[in-house]
Amino acid sequence: SEVKLLGPAEIRDLAALLDVQPTKKLGQNFVHDHGTVRRIVTTASVSPGERVLEVGPGLGSLTLALLEAGAAVTAIEIDERLAAQLPRTTEVMAPTVADRLEVITQDALRVDEVPGEPVAIVANLPYNVSVPVLLHLLERVPSLRRGVVMVQREVGERLAASPGSKVYGSPSVKAAWYGTWRTAGLVGRKVFWPVPNVDSVLVSFEAHEAHPGDEALRRRMFALVDAAFGQRRKMLRQSLAACFDGSSQLATEALEAAGIDPTARGEALEPDAFVRLARIPAP
Ligand code: SAM
Repeated sequence: SEVKLLGPAEIRDLAALLDVQPTKKLGQNFVHDHGTVRRIVTTASVSPGERVLEVGPGLGSLTLALLEAGAAVTAIEIDERLAAQLPRTTEVMAPTVADRLEVITQDALRVDEVPGEPVAIVANLPYNVSVPVLLHLLERVPSLRRGVVMVQREVGERLAASPGSKVYGSPSVKAAWYGTWRTAGLVGRKVFWPVPNVDSVLVSFEAHEAHPGDEALRRRMFALVDAAFGQRRKMLRQSLAACFDGSSQLATEALEAAGIDPTARGEALEPDAFVRLARIPAP
């Protein structure tokens, strides 16, 4: 292929060139293993010509693998030095396809829209903000139909969890608004520099044909989810009172109208049940 990938030597040289001291605050752990980045791209079934959204390209490990597979890449990177270097690295490692890369220097949590209508999100996410970044981008970039992201193992298990699982929580329900999530394989620590102190997992995402409802319904549902899981040991008729004018009586009536047991707890409810409840007009 005309695209070369980054290995340990290139990662070390680039970090030295840029005088990068990877920071924990920005979740900067760079992948130096060809097998891992190719596995992410294969799991995402990236086809030639597709536009992919990558968050946190860092030194470009995954970006180059995406370009190698023929993708056009829109990459959002918060670290200005890394964002400025990425086109130069691509010019050297992938000169024939360097024009398929667009870099946006920005905090992914603050982007309002992304040009080019990317169909897939493929990223090795900054671990401390993985869930907020995913939810923000799914809300702001409606062209996204699928994706594969690498996250901390516990976070991936949460995204993919169903009721009855210990780790089922508000991220599981909110993510389910947008689509179906599945864990797609563990990744060890040694593929990163610096080596993190957590394990990682690949998570795949498949969007629903259509969202369960409009933006107003989504907001109402997310508020209900926050209330239900904010006091997860209380019964829903109590934990949700705040969403019904402070009245557990009104909460009980709404829960019954939605076919939900008012004495249940949030952790027992399917995402669909939260959507049904959000459809009951608020007082
Ligand atoms: N994709 C690269 C790789 O696989 O080697 C780097 C992944 S590293 C885990 C996460 C990257 O996200 C870092 O480059 C970091 O600077 C960037 N980042 C952190 N917070 C961000 C944010 N809010 N918006 C955009 N990028 C961010």
